[in-house]
Amino acid sequence: MFNTSVIEVSKSALINNYKIIRECVGEDVKVSSVVKGNAYGHGIEDFVPVAEECGMDHFSVFSTDEAYRVKKSLINPETQVMIMGWVDNDELEWVIKNDVQFYVFDLDRLNKLIEVSSTLKKKARIHFEIETGMNRTGFIGDELRKAVEKIKDNPQCVEMVGLCTHFAGAESVANYLRVKNQYSNFKRIARWMKNHGIVPQVRHVASSAASIAYPNSRLDLVRIGIMQYGLWPSQEILIHYLKNSGKKNDPLKRIISWKSKVMSTKEVGKGDFIGYGTTYQARDHMKVATVPIGYSHGYSRSLSNTGRILVNNSRVAVIGIVNMNMLMIDISEIPGIKKGDEVVLIGGEGPNAVSVSAFGELSDQLNYELLTRLPSHIPRKIVD
Ligand SMILES: *Cc1c(COP(=O)(O)O)cnc(C)c1O
Repeated sequence: MFNTSVIEVSKSALINNYKIIRECVGEDVKVSSVVKGNAYGHGIEDFVPVAEECGMDHFSVFSTDEAYRVKKSLINPETQVMIMGWVDNDELEWVIKNDVQFYVFDLDRLNKLIEVSSTLKKKARIHFEIETGMNRTGFIGDELRKAVEKIKDNPQCVEMVGLCTHFAGAESVANYLRVKNQYSNFKRIARWMKNHGIVPQVRHVASSAASIAYPNSRLDLVRIGIMQYGLWPSQEILIHYLKNSGKKNDPLKRIISWKSKVMSTKEVGKGDFIGYGTTYQARDHMKVATVPIGYSHGYSRSLSNTGRILVNNSRVAVIGIVNMNMLMIDISEIPGIKKGDEVVLIGGEGPNAVSVSAFGELSDQLNYELLTRLPSHIPRKIVD
């Protein structure tokens, strides 16, 4: 479709990342590809079939709307889809009918799914989430005991696919004790449930960070988001990985590139202000180019006068304020730039590449936030 920019997703980089992840977690652990947040901005509809071609057969999302989009995009209808968060009671019927697996973390959802499952005469495939110390969602105490009784009383309604929890920040060693505690709580409760006759098919607790920093926590399945997209949960986790693997360099490859074009060019006299207001004054006679990307396209306004962009493989500065739909760059030093030339907002090769994290640090957003803010209306294109 018509647009002012395009987001490219590299299949060869994705293949590389899955290879690295597989090397790291071993052959016996299942990998679930986490595609919440529009596949971290990569685009669910474009990303999911490519990930399937690369061997993924399990996807995790946050909510029913995302599960619906994943289901629609699948090549193989047998591929599993798991909702880790929000399912409205009204949505349970669709979810159960379509074999979508989902987290259960409160009695309300459990009661409701038993009702719906009885009506449909079809088991709900659940992942039972336990509270271990994040204090977000999950069963604990009295509710946990009641839920276990409920499941035992309704074996025709519930297929106990998974038992799970989530760590409160495995990417930082600052949370070490808390995460360790969470993991021992998980094991203790899993044992207790087993003694009460509840044995899940798989146990899972680890995201990208925990898979690297807490290898024991890989259990039967790991939920991998950020690493498949070629980024690390934190610098700490990369260092941890390099130390343990003996590798010298970061082996992951960013799979996203974000590209647009020069919209117009012009000369500006020494001393003139460029763009809105007076934040940028030409220090000399300058040449500037306009790019049809602004904060409405996900290019943060905080990159005003600080962002870096590639044209003709050279890094140039964003000058003046980032507008809603446009920004300006200084092309004084780059000869021959003309309307229609390619501009790279994220991506490129070699020392000039604009990495997501460099971009992220400059705009004061984390990798995760920056990617998921890329608007879904920008077209995605799979490249080699
Ligand atoms: C987002 C998410 C993950 C994946 O986290 P990454 O750090 O991107 O690997 C795993 N588990 C849950 C519950 C999540 O919400």
